[in-house]
Amino acid sequence: MNLPLTPETQRRANASEQVERAASGEFTHSTLQVGTMASGQPITLPLLVAKGRAEGPVLWLNGAVHGDEINGILAISDFMAGLDCNNLAGTVVATPISNPTALDARRKRVPQDDQDLDQSFPGSDAGMLAQLLAHAVFDGIRQSADVVVNFHTMNPLFSSMPYAVYKDAGDGAPGESDILGAVSQFSPFVACRMSVTSASELPGNNAGALDYQCLKLGKLAFMIELGAGSQQQPDCIRSGVDGLQRLAGHLGMISANATKPGPIRRVTRRTHVFGHQGGFFRQHAAAGTTLPAGQPLGLIQDVAGNILETITFSQDVQVIGIRNDPVVHSGDRVGFVGLEWDDWHGQ
Ligand SMILES: [Zn+2]
Repeated sequence: MNLPLTPETQRRANASEQVERAASGEFTHSTLQVGTMASGQPITLPLLVAKGRAEGPVLWLNGAVHGDEINGILAISDFMAGLDCNNLAGTVVATPISNPTALDARRKRVPQDDQDLDQSFPGSDAGMLAQLLAHAVFDGIRQSADVVVNFHTMNPLFSSMPYAVYKDAGDGAPGESDILGAVSQFSPFVACRMSVTSASELPGNNAGALDYQCLKLGKLAFMIELGAGSQQQPDCIRSGVDGLQRLAGHLGMISANATKPGPIRRVTRRTHVFGHQGGFFRQHAAAGTTLPAGQPLGLIQDVAGNILETITFSQDVQVIGIRNDPVVHSGDRVGFVGLEWDDWHGQ
């Protein structure tokens, strides 16, 4: 006789239960149940678990927290496919598509509530869809993870070299040298130290970022920005995979790569750059370079070729990102630059 399903028997195992149940020496691909659409379609997100035979840390990889950021999904996929669980110490867990309805809709934000998922952590099991998604991921991280890498990209309209971001999270969070030791495995163009309360960041609940909430729990966490959104960029994907392999070596999970990462450029102050005039932004600098004081990042011209605005700085800057899309209105972002930096050579 078939018993009617109760909510409890319908409940799928949460992330930490699935990680716990995964068999040693095996790679599992399952899903996390988050909710349902009006049509009855389930809202789920994929969960990948590679569990080693030996004890070791739990490395958690999160991707597509913004649904149009694709390179990180493919870097996670390639890295996990290359793991040998028989020669792995610890567990790699991945939620490569943490914002599934946004990915499917080709959008950054959760389409059903228009929320920014990376401003919604730690989430809630009784809230808007963004909070439900955040909760499904964060609950697993809270219970299982030691180290968390959250993959982003820049806006699709920009170009950038792979770079890293890590947050100031105060007392109880892992120290900066431990964070930079892990970040440096990715050889980023720069590593930006960011305060979630800084006025030079874009408006929003920056304290709702996944990596910040992980740091507050004492877990080592940071963001890797792999190029631009809404496209695949093979060099960026490869750099993400190489970084993950070196990080896994650094954490003692796989045999360590012998090459030690070089010094890392730590940016301690950065700013978005906005155009005042509407028109056409013409690039005069490239992402991943140092722009000398007085030289233009770019010009804004009108359709007749008249220069309306020249964008320069009174000091040298690191060009973290620059706008590719030339069409700009007043107040549009044309660049993202580092203003203060030094070179970190390790402990
Ligand atoms: Zn993002």
